[in-house]
Amino acid sequence: MERELAEIRGAIRDIPNFPKPGIVFKDITPLLGNGRLFQQTIDLLADRYRSRGIDTVLGIESRGFIIGAALAYSLGAGFCIVRKPGKLPYETHSASYELEYGSDTLEVHRDALSPGARVLIADDLVATGGTAAAASALVSALGAQVVECAFVIELSFLKAREKLKPHAVFSLIQYDSE
Ligand code: AMP
Repeated sequence: MERELAEIRGAIRDIPNFPKPGIVFKDITPLLGNGRLFQQTIDLLADRYRSRGIDTVLGIESRGFIIGAALAYSLGAGFCIVRKPGKLPYETHSASYELEYGSDTLEVHRDALSPGARVLIADDLVATGGTAAAASALVSALGAQVVECAFVIELSFLKAREKLKPHAVFSLIQYDSE
């Protein structure tokens, strides 16, 4: 397990000052490009949730689609997409959240989750937790329940776990500083 996680960590590339000065972007494309490590990443997440009765994995646009869809397939769960405004064709619910400058909105189809469904929120990375918190608000709005929020990467110095309370948070790889 430790060796597998070290290999996954080694395939994540730091891109300083992207998409803007001062941000160190965690680029997972080398990880996704390595079939063995991509599979290992999904297997480690899926093993954690196999016996947790997950009905639906919710993936957040856009890298959350990659991680979440693979995870849903592995678990035999449904997959629910949460997108930026104006992308979903049917009636939607929306949730807004604060960014460093301004705010952003996420949308979900209003029939995407069954009432009471056990939902796993998935994304590639959690930073402040604002995005996942908005996704969890959408889950609640549809009458479903968040079992946990799962990420490949957690920027733990940004304290998303505080923001996402009372929801449980799990991540494979943590960074304690930039
Ligand atoms: P937050 O809402 O602050 O938790 O930001 C999480 C979302 O922004 C996720 O969808 C990430 O893919 C993306 N994100 C935020 N910070 C980074 C970063 N340093 N590197 C890569 N993606 C990031």
